[in-house]
Amino acid sequence: MSGELLNQIASDLASHGLILRGGFSFAADEEGLAGPSGAPARSVFLVGNAGAGYWRHFSLWRETQPVNLPNPLDTWSRLVIGEVADRVGAGLIMPNDRPFQPFQQWAIRAEGLAPSPLGLLMHPVYGLWHAYRGALLLDRELAFPSLEKLIHPCDLCDGKPCLNACPVEAFSPGGFDYAGCVSHVRGRTGYACRSAGCLARNACPIGAEWRYPAAVQAFHQAAFAGL
Ligand code: SF4
Ligand code: SF4
Repeated sequence: MSGELLNQIASDLASHGLILRGGFSFAADEEGLAGPSGAPARSVFLVGNAGAGYWRHFSLWRETQPVNLPNPLDTWSRLVIGEVADRVGAGLIMPNDRPFQPFQQWAIRAEGLAPSPLGLLMHPVYGLWHAYRGALLLDRELAFPSLEKLIHPCDLCDGKPCLNACPVEAFSPGGFDYAGCVSHVRGRTGYACRSAGCLARNACPIGAEWRYPAAVQAFHQAAFAGL
């Protein structure tokens, strides 16, 4: 894939508030997903967002859709990333496609990130305010630049405030208490988590300028908690 084509993909994604998030070639002995030709894909590019730049584009599109459209953000993401995939002859795979693909492991390989204590990947610039929304699969191997070793801010974080901010202590060495979290978000005392996002995620000081606005966080919380 030429640099020119990469620039074209990046520019197409930017028109939807999305970004290319790196990629990698699968190892020769890796069992690959089917690429656009039907043969195992040989490389993958991740697509996502840093900050909530996608929100304006998504919101404009949503105004044209039925109010009760299920999974609107996934639907929009599939639509716009799929258009980009079609333009460059790539296959498309989405995080919620079955069987689930290891998007977080792919992201670690593509960008060299490491998980935060909350489980979300920590980015040294964007903090916890980024996401992976899809991936483009290609039939050929590509030469990706080797990754620089990134600083992992969690290693240097004094006091780890994210771990002390959850009112139901959903994060523990035993793992994430999904049921306890959802029950709180849906419940009488969960207004703060419902209306402005996860208190633990918001307690992290890294990448504050990329933080999603409260309305965006409320949208994601409603989807997460099935509200
Ligand atoms: S508060 Fe500290 S430990 Fe927690 S996610 Fe942010 S940088 Fe990492
Ligand atoms: S959404 Fe609220 S209850 Fe759930 S983990 Fe975050 S702070 Fe805890």
